[in-house]
Amino acid sequence: MNVLLNKFNTKYNSAPFQAIKNEHFKPAIETLIKETKTEIKAIAESKNIPTFKNTIEALEYAGQQLDRVTSIFFNLNSAETNEEIQKIAQDISPLLSEFSNDITLNEKLFARIKEVYNQKEQLDLTEEQKTLLDKKYKSFARNGANLTEDKKEQLRAIDKKLASLKLKFGENVLAETNAFEMHITNKEDLDGLPEGAIEAAQQLAESKGKDGWLITLDYPSYIPFMTYAKNRALRKKLSIAFGSKGFNNNKLDNQNNVLEIAKLRYQRANLLGYKTHAHFVLEERMAETPAKVENFLNDLLNKAKPAAEREFAYLQDFAKEIDDIDHLEKWDGAYYSEKLKQKLFNLDDEKLKPYFKLENVIDGAFKVANKLFGLTFKEIDTIDKYHPDVLTYEVLDEDDNLVSIFYADFFPRAGKRNGAWMTSYKPQFVQNGVNERPHVSIVCNFTKPTKTKPSLLTFNEVTTLFHEFGHALHGMLANTTYPSLSGTSVYWDFVELPSQVLENWCYEKEALELFATHYETGELIPMDLVEKIKESATFNEGMQTLRQISFGLLDMHWHGIDPTEVTDVKAHENEAFKDTKLYPDVEENCMSTAFSHIFQGGYSSGYYSYKWAEVLDADAFDYFKQNGIFNRDIALKFKDNVLTKGGTENPLILYKRFRGQDPKPEALLKRAGLIK
Ligand SMILES: [Zn+2]
Repeated sequence: MNVLLNKFNTKYNSAPFQAIKNEHFKPAIETLIKETKTEIKAIAESKNIPTFKNTIEALEYAGQQLDRVTSIFFNLNSAETNEEIQKIAQDISPLLSEFSNDITLNEKLFARIKEVYNQKEQLDLTEEQKTLLDKKYKSFARNGANLTEDKKEQLRAIDKKLASLKLKFGENVLAETNAFEMHITNKEDLDGLPEGAIEAAQQLAESKGKDGWLITLDYPSYIPFMTYAKNRALRKKLSIAFGSKGFNNNKLDNQNNVLEIAKLRYQRANLLGYKTHAHFVLEERMAETPAKVENFLNDLLNKAKPAAEREFAYLQDFAKEIDDIDHLEKWDGAYYSEKLKQKLFNLDDEKLKPYFKLENVIDGAFKVANKLFGLTFKEIDTIDKYHPDVLTYEVLDEDDNLVSIFYADFFPRAGKRNGAWMTSYKPQFVQNGVNERPHVSIVCNFTKPTKTKPSLLTFNEVTTLFHEFGHALHGMLANTTYPSLSGTSVYWDFVELPSQVLENWCYEKEALELFATHYETGELIPMDLVEKIKESATFNEGMQTLRQISFGLLDMHWHGIDPTEVTDVKAHENEAFKDTKLYPDVEENCMSTAFSHIFQGGYSSGYYSYKWAEVLDADAFDYFKQNGIFNRDIALKFKDNVLTKGGTENPLILYKRFRGQDPKPEALLKRAGLIK
């Protein structure tokens, strides 16, 4: 018997981790794909006139068990994997993408969806239903469902070509990264590096049968060297190697790949009726159009630039003073910034950690959620866990109604990937009058307790916990009808608002008083330490901002234009950078040829969203600050207009309902100390 094919019969219908065996996954997913295909066939080939209910809604509720099983599977593949699970993932991923292609290419199904879509205005639909209809229609149209046969053919050819170019781009970056190593045999060349980095460099050399130390272009090796190594010539060598990936006129060169990817994306957008690739992408973003993104970036640029130039001049003076450096170069930035930061703040993690015992911080996050939204977290041991380290909770509202199940998984182990994330095992939705509550999870990799010491978090880990907890609240408080619009299923330049806004509480006295006490003495964290944390968090923020803006502008310079005539990658890039430059250009270097975010990953026309989300979170938190960070009315507005609403309406409308006005960048600029 395959437990994944039956009703779970567990408390809260929670995932039956103990009964699931790895060998259950593949047959279950194959069977469930078949069953879902039958459900979809019935919708597509129905003899009834297509309606919202028998087509759009029916499609939305189809394949629920398949969704549950695949989310359990892929969540485990991230948090508790092994070779067997990874092998299954390789087997089922193609099955799932083939299945989803089958749906988007189903012409009968699309014809019915289109018929409903064309009557949209005459139908008596709620806002949420309109959004769902739009979303379903676009998931087909944006994949070419409206095109003639020969144009569909062209689109498929472009997609195929793009897929292989993107793959090639990534392979080249990786190969260039691996091709370089800096072999160091004189220990003095490592002066300034922390012990841990020296040890790692030695181990790396050893593993390759070399004496001395090896430095590579991988971040864990590259970053410490650029930040701490005294030897300027070696920093220069490493920096130039890093910056010339894909730009070495060898067989791993990415210049042509960049040009071709940009051109194919442009052609693809044209084929689908959009002016540029950015127009195509931004249709499904809060920012909406390339013009808005460019205005947003340029506005921020104008406001941040004076501060960035001031900081740069200050850093230049500092480098002159301590090392007689006349002109700061790219390979000096991280090094002197770190030195200056140490001088100004002298703040290290070890001083702060005793105030952030993990249990206290978790409790603090729960107290914040209680004060803001009236939620209570009750630890339970009545549902299955996928690992003994996982904590499980019932989340209750003020009337003791179940809001959500919450899993929290904090410590690193083999089988868990790096980083921190929020995910869910079951979405929230309403069906047949029943409000199905969600099962939400956060996964982190925090410092483990030892025999003598509890888990003490760095301040960075504290904000990470609050960040993921913010995503979790978005998932837990969800209250929508349709699962695909629920919780964090929002435009991706909106999804970081709940998470980033919650981080703000970590810097506030009123919130820290709830949990930041010394794990041995019980003493509250000294507020001058908190002030220092705040100040150091915005250290060189002008320069940082300019850097982020420059990447956003470069992204738009490739994707918001017609790139047909572009032939010189480096010259095109320099045009985009002309207003954001602080350091002299390095001729041997090119950013685009290794800009994997936009040429390999999913960030094309989306790089701006990092700053966009910061503007939103600062603006939202400012509203709390003006009225008190635990003001229940503001919290209720945030809950009712943002957290419960998922993707049921355009995020700008939701945001304005909460905030009473458009988001403005002033709060961010103020928080960052860029304006007074
Ligand atoms: Zn996030």
